[in-house]
Amino acid sequence: MFTNSGVPFTSIESVGEFRLIELITRDFKSFSPHLVQGIGDDAAVIAQPDGSLLLISTDAMVEGIHFDCSYTPLKHLGYKAAITNFSDIFAMNGKPFAITVSISVSNQFSVEALQELYSGIQIACKEHEVDLIGGNTTAIKSGLHIGITVLGKVAADRISYRKGAKPYEILCVTGDLGAAYAGLQILEREKAVYLTNPSIQPDLSEFAYVVERQLRPPSRKEVINFFEKANIVPTAMIDISDGLVSEIYHICKASNVGATFYQNKLPIDYQTIKVAELFELPVTTYALYGGEDYELLFSIKQTDYEKVSAFRGITPIGYIEETPLLVRMVQADNSVVDIKPMGYEHFRSN
Ligand code: ADP
Ligand code: MG
Repeated sequence: MFTNSGVPFTSIESVGEFRLIELITRDFKSFSPHLVQGIGDDAAVIAQPDGSLLLISTDAMVEGIHFDCSYTPLKHLGYKAAITNFSDIFAMNGKPFAITVSISVSNQFSVEALQELYSGIQIACKEHEVDLIGGNTTAIKSGLHIGITVLGKVAADRISYRKGAKPYEILCVTGDLGAAYAGLQILEREKAVYLTNPSIQPDLSEFAYVVERQLRPPSRKEVINFFEKANIVPTAMIDISDGLVSEIYHICKASNVGATFYQNKLPIDYQTIKVAELFELPVTTYALYGGEDYELLFSIKQTDYEKVSAFRGITPIGYIEETPLLVRMVQADNSVVDIKPMGYEHFRSN
């Protein structure tokens, strides 16, 4: 056994995912004059000779952390793995064009199972005109790990970073919030029922929408196409993978601003409300902290407000404010509460 006696031991849990990334990457200096944005946004940005920008992002999905094979169809899992990567390219206002896929898999999986996984990746690629251009395959002792790197592109005058939000701009989200977490709760509940009594077949029809949001999240490609057609460039943008509040803080930190949003403007699906009732939790908790929605959160100039509000599927929820890192929510009764930075973070007990 190797021991590191005398070397300090800081647990990863005590620092959390975001601080960990900072600690392990902060001493790296960049070499390329073409690197426009390195670590710190949804994708890295590299200037191309033709003046356009190349976007690169990578994300992994790990069995037992991101998915549970007992209720996750592998086809959906492949689709989701691809879509979640595309989402980071959309968050830069770009379009994905190629992926590499790296799988680490144990012998418990069959060839057919992996073909099924890849059929889901293929559907996502076809829908988005993205090429599978390579990858890597290795064995692991147990489980399944999928790592995807996505390449995208965007014109230099159309890119959205996390850092461009200015006071008085309007904060918007796409789709609805909290549904993926609600779906996860339903799936976990059905799993528990099945484990105690395997003869009971789960009936998920009442919650089909939220379950689908968990297993097979939608792509927001149409929003990026709308921005292009309407000639709108969000001043800042991020995708919502770890919960609305966490992503608002990322934008506020990068842009050195604060934000105020309205509780009664948060877009929440009827089924999410039903699940919140079932689990006796405030539905706002789902919208604020539920992860894996893969919606987009962005700020726009006030002059773009009319154009944006005409698009179904985008909801203005508040505005950007001057005070750095002060995030507030106006509640239904008009009282204002400070919202602390919280959301899904790996290694934390969440
Ligand atoms: P997202 O949720 O959009 O995928 P993350 O929160 O995972 O973004 O990552 C934030 C930033 O940190 C990104 O720029 C990402 O590339 C970078 N990053 C994350 N993990 C590492 C790592 N282990 N080494 C280097 N950079 C990392
Ligand atoms: Mg992201």
